[in-house]
Amino acid sequence: MGKRKSPPPLPEPLPGLVDAHTHLDSCGARTPDAVREVVDRAAAVGVDTVVTVACDLAEARFATEATRWDDRVFAAVALHPTSAHELQTDGVAEELAALAADPRCVAIGETGLDWYWLGKRDDVATPEQQHESFGWHIDLAKQLGKPLMIHNRDADEDVLADLERFGAPEAVIFHCFSGNADMARRCVDRGFVLSFSGTVTFGNAVELQEAAKLVPDDQLLVETDAPFLTPHPYRGAPNESYCVPYTARYLADLRGVTAEHLASATTATARRVFGIPA
Ligand SMILES: [Zn+2]
Repeated sequence: MGKRKSPPPLPEPLPGLVDAHTHLDSCGARTPDAVREVVDRAAAVGVDTVVTVACDLAEARFATEATRWDDRVFAAVALHPTSAHELQTDGVAEELAALAADPRCVAIGETGLDWYWLGKRDDVATPEQQHESFGWHIDLAKQLGKPLMIHNRDADEDVLADLERFGAPEAVIFHCFSGNADMARRCVDRGFVLSFSGTVTFGNAVELQEAAKLVPDDQLLVETDAPFLTPHPYRGAPNESYCVPYTARYLADLRGVTAEHLASATTATARRVFGIPA
């Protein structure tokens, strides 16, 4: 791990963007002032709405709280697949369901399947626990009529199979989509929404770039997944919502549209899927 890189400079502003997936607390913003600072920095370059995503119950409490501090912040709550076993802890399912029902919670996520960490970390939920938790979150999304926000790592076939088996909610978002063109086509055909992070800008992400070209405007989102996955050429530096325009401009070039078109299309999709009024 070399020395810490400094944050990327502010990008050229691109008005009207939504960061469809970030983690404000992991970016270091855990107080009302700190949240406002991060969102102000984003708004200064056109990112005027952010969805902050929880991976466990403590983060779900934070995300819900943060929506009270700043009108531009919305929440998504769930147990991350690697923490799926926490669903068995007394009271967790009940409290998560209550937080998910909050009007400022606009998605159930991030949930899904993560096979990458199996056998690499010893605190990771088993496949059985992950399938069960994923099914529980799918049911919750359907009960509440909210979109399901999926984390899929090395589990394409199993995620699609679980969605089929449990029955997909009306709106499904693949956060930080990382598949190839074939996987993208299968998701698009099922009506799913694909959200692209800074990984699509990486030099070696040729298959992902092919995938990003074929997603229709009304199934496309852009996100940071901050503080991770900072777009090229700032890979490895700390990411934050203000970096969305880098990825948005990259996607616009890739898809042969103007940056303004990309911004208004992804924002229309975000508002529709998350139910956020303009
Ligand atoms: Zn995330």
